[in-house]
Amino acid sequence: MEPIQGIHHITAFASDPQANVDFYHNLLGQRLVKTTINFDDPGTYHLYYADYTGSPGTLLTFFPWPGAQRGVRGSGEVGAVAYNIPTGSMGFWRDRLTRQGITVAEGETRFGAPVLTFDDPDGMPLELIATETPGTIQPWADGPIPAEHALRGFHSVTLWAARHEPTAALLTHVMGYTAAGEEQNRWRFVGAGSLGPVVDVLVNRSLPRGMMGVGSVHHVAFRTRDHDEQLEYREQLTRVGLSVTPVRDRQYFQSIYFREPNGVLFEIATDGPGFAIDEPVEKLGASLKLPPWLESERAKITQILPPFRVKPIDQETSHA
Ligand code: ZN
Repeated sequence: MEPIQGIHHITAFASDPQANVDFYHNLLGQRLVKTTINFDDPGTYHLYYADYTGSPGTLLTFFPWPGAQRGVRGSGEVGAVAYNIPTGSMGFWRDRLTRQGITVAEGETRFGAPVLTFDDPDGMPLELIATETPGTIQPWADGPIPAEHALRGFHSVTLWAARHEPTAALLTHVMGYTAAGEEQNRWRFVGAGSLGPVVDVLVNRSLPRGMMGVGSVHHVAFRTRDHDEQLEYREQLTRVGLSVTPVRDRQYFQSIYFREPNGVLFEIATDGPGFAIDEPVEKLGASLKLPPWLESERAKITQILPPFRVKPIDQETSHA
């Protein structure tokens, strides 16, 4: 069985879809590549942000719940999502975010790499980690960020956990990750693939259990190349005692879900068929897409969904 090829996507809860689009699409330059709904809850949007084509390893997705309560950070959930940036881009991002009134924290070094930390509009912790070898993405030429400073896909995800051992066993024995050391109770695991290869398990025994809400990450999905490989993983995960869902058709990929031993919801998703199956690449995200089995309910669904507008891109061309 081939190792997991890194992070496929990360899915979180937001409140206002407009603020979410403005922040990720216009400010961070993560293109809105799909506007669809939560297939399990059709009255809720599912918004996907990524590189130009929606490459696995760059996809951050949201279920916006206007007016819902914020989550409470705690154990058994994803505590932070980290993007890779080139080593020379730290100043660019500090300035860009600060100009928008966003509070950034700088100065932390993690396994030798500098980290810039800030929250999204719903309090979800984001990190930019500068590395010598950021992954290769499909650049968004008309996006707001000059190509040399664009986010370069995920660096890592940090799981908050009471113990690292059971998650370590799953990652290394089943998912093909390698243990890469420990630093300040942060246990690092590195997998295959160039985008989102790292999973950190941050151990804190005194944390209460996290409570899901706005600003919480719902799950992290990992990459498998095709359906057959996904089924092999399903069998293997079941064999080690995990309860895995049947394969679910997510239109742009196929998914299985299970809780890892510390309680974080994991998904294993196929690379294909991808985001260009129901609209051309240049039009990705521009209109509401529904899966074929919900198309007959389009009128009803669009009445429930709160409207939002994708504002024109304001390109930053030089370092202000
Ligand atoms: Zn997912």
